[in-house]
Amino acid sequence: MSTITRTDLGQAVEDAAAHLYVWALKDIPRDLRDALVAARGRETSVTGVRVLETILRNVEVADEEGNLVCQDTGIAVYYCRVGEGFPLHPAGIYRALRAGTERATVENSLRSNTVHTLTRESTGANVGYRVPIVHWEFVADWDGLDVKCVPKGSGSENMTFLRMLVPADGVNGVKRFVLESIVDAGGKPCPPGIVGVGIGGSADYALHLAKEAIARPVGSRNPDPLVAQLEDELYGLLNETGIGPMGLGGDVTVLQCHIEHADTHMTLNPVAVNYQCWAARRASAHIGADGAVEFDREF
Ligand code: SF4
Repeated sequence: MSTITRTDLGQAVEDAAAHLYVWALKDIPRDLRDALVAARGRETSVTGVRVLETILRNVEVADEEGNLVCQDTGIAVYYCRVGEGFPLHPAGIYRALRAGTERATVENSLRSNTVHTLTRESTGANVGYRVPIVHWEFVADWDGLDVKCVPKGSGSENMTFLRMLVPADGVNGVKRFVLESIVDAGGKPCPPGIVGVGIGGSADYALHLAKEAIARPVGSRNPDPLVAQLEDELYGLLNETGIGPMGLGGDVTVLQCHIEHADTHMTLNPVAVNYQCWAARRASAHIGADGAVEFDREF
């Protein structure tokens, strides 16, 4: 953890974003490294072991050479927790995150992925209309800003599913849908990764919650014991599917299952699944009202 102090808040946020994007791409968090090593330890299929050893070697090479853990630099996604007393308006925060993403891409010669959704023409250095994508949360009685950068690879993002269950489907319907989604996804999202599940709210909010779930530290549990119990149960069931590392068969199909939930309408039961691949990259910074930036590996 390191601390830098800047007086220009916009510049501090831009610098933090520029650092976070490339840091996340090169240096995966400790909890993810531990989860991959543990997965290697419990895998019994010969092919599965070989895949997990290749993944671990890939991480080692990235460390040794200061290189990316995967060529897909993803789409830049940020999660911002903004204190009501933070002196920079969210419009300024967004401008800074965008500038930081662009700068990191140019300065580090990162692959640029963003295109116009219809023409498919490049829109710039990992920026475009409404890109980067920023999720906002506003916090009362606080003057800080937390920024978490989660570059999201397309292989796993393409494996995103939503179903509007009916209330009568109940929790069993939720479990069935999550299992069906991951079985359908097979090896496409580069397993083993993190299955994020969003339950409740509305259609769009369930998807938002599923995305929040994949960005949590690996193996963290929902504070609601009922939801945490469902996380444990789904984690066990998903690993009984036999899909295995990279879909080539084995014991380890997922590193974890995280669930976020919201209350919902009495006639709704939305469920969303968002997959995060083994390269579950994330990096965070805490920015004070005085411009002090503290980078955090484990948030
Ligand atoms: S899904 Fe993940 S591991 Fe697979 S290519 Fe994309 S970023 Fe890389």
